[in-house]
Amino acid sequence: LEISNICARDCHYCGIRSGNDTLERYRMPDDAIMACVHEAVDYRYGTVVLQAGEDYGITREWMAGLVRRIKSETGLAVTLSLGERSDEDLVAWKEAGADRYLVRFETSNRELYDRIHPPLPGIVSDRFALLRRLREIGYEIGSGVMIGIPGQTWKDLADDIEAFRTLDLDMIGVGPFIPHQATPLGYGIDQLRAPEGEQVPNTELMTYKVIALARIACPNANIPSTTALATLNTPTGRELGLSRGANIVMPNLTPKKYRAMYEIYPAKACIDETAADCRACMHRRIISIGREVGSGHGDSPNRNKKRAA
Ligand code: SAH
Repeated sequence: LEISNICARDCHYCGIRSGNDTLERYRMPDDAIMACVHEAVDYRYGTVVLQAGEDYGITREWMAGLVRRIKSETGLAVTLSLGERSDEDLVAWKEAGADRYLVRFETSNRELYDRIHPPLPGIVSDRFALLRRLREIGYEIGSGVMIGIPGQTWKDLADDIEAFRTLDLDMIGVGPFIPHQATPLGYGIDQLRAPEGEQVPNTELMTYKVIALARIACPNANIPSTTALATLNTPTGRELGLSRGANIVMPNLTPKKYRAMYEIYPAKACIDETAADCRACMHRRIISIGREVGSGHGDSPNRNKKRAA
């Protein structure tokens, strides 16, 4: 559920970056969010992800209240993906009942990261430290990378997959980098590419390979077959991701009127669909490959194993 496209950051890859002034901005009101959350319950989803730009209009108190309301009215597992927020915010949201936090480190190559992800003034952006801290606070943690960022080499990508393992991630989200016109990485990027033979391609096939390697590196992680992958291959991308190592889908709950405004990359799959459409579509795709739709909260098998040990 994409609750806000307002963003303080100016990431060179992302369509909702603050510098994109062609975009109409929104932040969903509480009641609209709660209506979607109840829709998730009706669909028998066990968990809801609240994602947004790094929107400081999403205040500590407001989000804590919202998480408390979701937990008391529904009992769903709650995952947050709200960017690089302060320690106080993250602790308050955990205390309010949030279960999981998603923040991709995007690339483990520090130089490449700095090039595409400008820091906020005076604050160092260290998503590895943030992930370790999130784990300490008690969240299940999710991270991941984009595949085929201009300048990303095979060595970088190998390091990324190794980092999935050393971070001991509960959730791993990977998808192809898709250029967006209203961003610095959207045009004229040829000179940013790694030298011939070293640049990772932002292709469908490469995405499957990374999903498969992530599964081997982290046998117990939850790995989604992502919307970015479905954008490259709408007919069968989701199914092929699931067949090659992914075990999760994230059907979109965002009301139709906001969907087109959460355009982090262009031609995003499922943009014209309703939450009901997405539910039916995912269900059909899962059944078509001989799998079953799971029930429950979707807790990380990685975390459960550690709890049992
Ligand atoms: N603001 C939050 C979450 C929203 S963006 C955050 O930064 O964590 C969610 C993810 O979309 C990002 O982590 C990034 O990996 C991915 N993304 C952004 N722009 C993209 C693009 N052009 N192509 C593919 N994936 C992109």
